[in-house]
Amino acid sequence: MHLSKTFIPTLRETPQDAEIASHRLMLRAGMIRRVSGGIFTFLPLGLRALRQVERIVREEIDRAGAIEVLMPGLQPREIWEQSGRYDLMRDVMFRIHDRQGHDLALGPTHEEVITGLVAHEISSYRQLPCTFYQVQTKYRDEIRPRFGLMRAREFVMKDAYSFDASWDAADGSYQAMYDAYERIFARCGLNVKVVEADSGAMGGQWSHEFMVLADSGEDGLVECNGCTYAANLEKAERARGAPPENSADNGCPSPEKVVTPETTTIEAVSALLDIPAQRLIKTLIYTADIQPVAVLTSGDREINELKLARALGCRELTAADAATVERVTGAPVGYAGPIGLSIPIHADLELRGASDYVCGANQADTHTLHVDIERDVTVTGYADLTNARGGDGCPQCDDGVLQAKRGIEVGHVFKLGTKYSEAFDARYLTAEGEQKPLVMGCYGIGVTRTLQAVIEQHHDANGICWPSSVAPYKVVLLPLNLSHDATRETTERLSAELTAAGWEPLIDDRDERPGVKFKDADLIGYPVRVVISERSLAAGGVEIKARAADKPQTLPLAEAMSQIGEFLS
Ligand SMILES: [Zn+2]
Repeated sequence: MHLSKTFIPTLRETPQDAEIASHRLMLRAGMIRRVSGGIFTFLPLGLRALRQVERIVREEIDRAGAIEVLMPGLQPREIWEQSGRYDLMRDVMFRIHDRQGHDLALGPTHEEVITGLVAHEISSYRQLPCTFYQVQTKYRDEIRPRFGLMRAREFVMKDAYSFDASWDAADGSYQAMYDAYERIFARCGLNVKVVEADSGAMGGQWSHEFMVLADSGEDGLVECNGCTYAANLEKAERARGAPPENSADNGCPSPEKVVTPETTTIEAVSALLDIPAQRLIKTLIYTADIQPVAVLTSGDREINELKLARALGCRELTAADAATVERVTGAPVGYAGPIGLSIPIHADLELRGASDYVCGANQADTHTLHVDIERDVTVTGYADLTNARGGDGCPQCDDGVLQAKRGIEVGHVFKLGTKYSEAFDARYLTAEGEQKPLVMGCYGIGVTRTLQAVIEQHHDANGICWPSSVAPYKVVLLPLNLSHDATRETTERLSAELTAAGWEPLIDDRDERPGVKFKDADLIGYPVRVVISERSLAAGGVEIKARAADKPQTLPLAEAMSQIGEFLS
């Protein structure tokens, strides 16, 4: 391919609105252009790279035994009502109407469509197990689209759905996808961490996320420095630790009230009393189903509502409104404390044995000093109620310490169970003639996001450094003067040989100064650059340089091919 025959509009300037390196580089390298917030056009170079990622995804998912289909983006409201998710997904789903006034949605995911299909088409254990997949466009109404393809409103996803006769069998399908995902990300050159995840709105039983570690990542995770434990922040547990010694006589003075006018936040209390946030008890009032409960954490911890709901065993959990807080505590919001409350009090495990802490006094403009939790508070129970963070003990091994990391979620695998098969009456007949619901799993890879994640992990100050597996072109040929016959002929010959070897090169045939061509080659990040010039030919051949290498080497044409092959392997 000649550069003059395609369309690669590189930019000299750094785009102002792009916040992270990979987004900037995709714009500068002429891979994508923004249409509107979170909506992009793929230009030829971006499209070629996307096709490479899709190819790897298809090869590995096919190899795992899944069958490719293509489902519609446009989906009727009824199937979302049937799964009970029409309201649940309200925030992220684009809803539209047809001319007859029927409601439709632009599919954010495809559990409903595939389960409806399978309910009609699969009826016997003889047809099991089976996994369907597609590479298709998804739509999500992101509240804040940003970072280019990382959080877009229209994006390409590979989604797969497995159907099995039993939970045990479903484990096999799950593992097959898990293994395929590891191969896919490895082939894309990504350093990926697999973490335990909460299944959230998918309604699943168990799940793992595949995270590309990157400082620009939007997802938090922790990993142990002593064992293999890793989990995202929502899911991560902390070491329970040993219960503290009996603190009955630890010298803590008696509680004492102190006036704290207009001091309703942890930061303000900490500043006014000059006491670090971790010595404050934060008291939050929640409504668990219909019952108000108090939840205590130290002032520098964040409540994890998933953990809290689990610990309370409730179906619905909401932060209590101001009226409830005032009724329960007898004080305006900002002054709640655990002493004397007549509702259940649940405390984060870190507060066991907390002594000489500060809390709200259930009285306007007042806090209480010298609180000993065992002595002064009637705690209903202690549990892990807050997010893990770096420095916490590992829940899995004895002396490991959790390290906090940032990541980009590129893949997610869920064991779904029978939630959707029950809703769509997707059943099969066992060998014994019994009707049973199919056991499902679902599996997603953000294909466009994976593409950008590759750039986030593979770039330097000059541009992208593509792994050859996903490079839009593996080799760029830079003839410096095409009116020089030998240069032109050598370029054509090398191009033909590379194409025959399956490495279709891009020939930069623009009438530009060498400096411009070199800069663009580094920006776009072709794994191998070959310069053909009067000077290189006089020196006996062509100048070959891998993107990461400091200096080129001049090789005769006969040796050039094997050196390029080595760079690309
Ligand atoms: Zn550990």
